[in-house]
Amino acid sequence: MNKLQKIVDKAYETEQLSREEIILHLKDDSINEYLYAKAHQKKQELLGNEIHLRALIEISNICLQNCLYCGLRRDNSLQERYKLSKDEILFLASTAKQYGYKTIVLQGGESNTYPINDLCEVIQKIKKDDIAITLSIGEKTYEEYKLLKEAGADRFLLRIETTDCTLYEQMDPGMSHENRKRCLRDLKALGYETGSGSLVGLPGQTIESIADDILFFKEIDADMLGIGPFIAHQDTPLKDVPNGNLFLSLKVMAIIRLLMPDINIPATTAMEALHPNGRMLALTSGANVLMPNFTDEIHRKMYEIYPGKAQVAENNSLHIEQINKKIKEYGLVVSKTAGYRWNRS
Ligand code: SF4
Repeated sequence: MNKLQKIVDKAYETEQLSREEIILHLKDDSINEYLYAKAHQKKQELLGNEIHLRALIEISNICLQNCLYCGLRRDNSLQERYKLSKDEILFLASTAKQYGYKTIVLQGGESNTYPINDLCEVIQKIKKDDIAITLSIGEKTYEEYKLLKEAGADRFLLRIETTDCTLYEQMDPGMSHENRKRCLRDLKALGYETGSGSLVGLPGQTIESIADDILFFKEIDADMLGIGPFIAHQDTPLKDVPNGNLFLSLKVMAIIRLLMPDINIPATTAMEALHPNGRMLALTSGANVLMPNFTDEIHRKMYEIYPGKAQVAENNSLHIEQINKKIKEYGLVVSKTAGYRWNRS
């Protein structure tokens, strides 16, 4: 057994790795398959073969921020904008419920398009059906997060994108890394299941900073982590930057699974946008969540954070039976629960 395999085994046993050990792995591709297999084994051992489904509804593509990598950025005037009405959101949520989904994710650009009261009203109505609600609507004040939590929101996704503060503030002009971390602290303090994550392959990002991302996730004890390879969008300033590497993203995800075995990790759509079987590769390398897209076809095509995203959704079955059939080939099965973070106690 070589040195790298021994390090993977150590992570498998102890759930700990040093920064140097993580960097060694991220820089060396010689035992990728071993790492993926061990991460999958760890997931199976602790969480079993269940995959949790989340119905994704993209409520609005209006965004006041200007992240260089994102097709929804404020300055992308080529992007037609939309905002779903409260009734449209509730209709999509009830469709997801009829399909048997136990969690709904409401995702949108960062803006004040919806007054907090409107969001609270939507959340309260969806909660009447005993559905878990995840929000992914960006940075808010503590008070706003509190109101949304009191209305019934269970989880919140807010990717840190990168823990390299200088890089973050270059990529997300006008945004503050410190405020991003404040948001994550507030969400945790308010009792949300708190999700974060990163983009792998940003221009100027180093392997060392990716290792720091992994350690940061462990330090804040994130409940969910989504890792996506960077994909260049043609209508952004990063249009000529090469795409991120799927296999490096899978390695980041697999290391996270070994260090944080009990959390929820989605197989991200960006992985599938880079590889026709990207999400199944992820589901057999440590991921345990899938997020089928329930946004109607017209609006889904207008939610183009990166190219190829809507195409993946189109090829995506919304029917639990069909998803079950597909993942069964890999020894997996759709969970019948809402899929909160697994509790060891
Ligand atoms: S990444 Fe999020 S905050 Fe940044 S421009 Fe896109 S939607 Fe807006």
